[in-house]
Amino acid sequence: MKFAIRKVPEFKHIIHVYCRECDRAHQRDSRLYAHSFCPRLARPGNVVCWAEAAFVELPPEHIAGICLHELGHQMVGPMEESAEYDAEREADLAVLERLGVAIKYKRPKLIQRVSLKKLV
Ligand SMILES: [Zn+2]
Ligand SMILES: [Zn+2]
Repeated sequence: MKFAIRKVPEFKHIIHVYCRECDRAHQRDSRLYAHSFCPRLARPGNVVCWAEAAFVELPPEHIAGICLHELGHQMVGPMEESAEYDAEREADLAVLERLGVAIKYKRPKLIQRVSLKKLV
């Protein structure tokens, strides 16, 4: 997060919370660990929700990858459900453009991953 805030100061307004809806989403689909624009929140802007499982199951390079991906969603803004694929791509593109970090998807679960060496 410090790395991201240095590059994009507006990120200091973003808060990270644990979210039961996100826990449930993770139970339905094991590759979901975080979301932006939570349907549970009355004011979902500037909030990134996490499933607790992320911090139990994932190594730091995946947590950082997911975190940056969600910050990408925050930069792009909420998008229509039908544009889901584009929203994911747009989020990663925003991260590449503003932060200069390429998000990779690691098999088998295709979870976001970044090289921690790039975050300095
Ligand atoms: Zn949520
Ligand atoms: Zn996404």
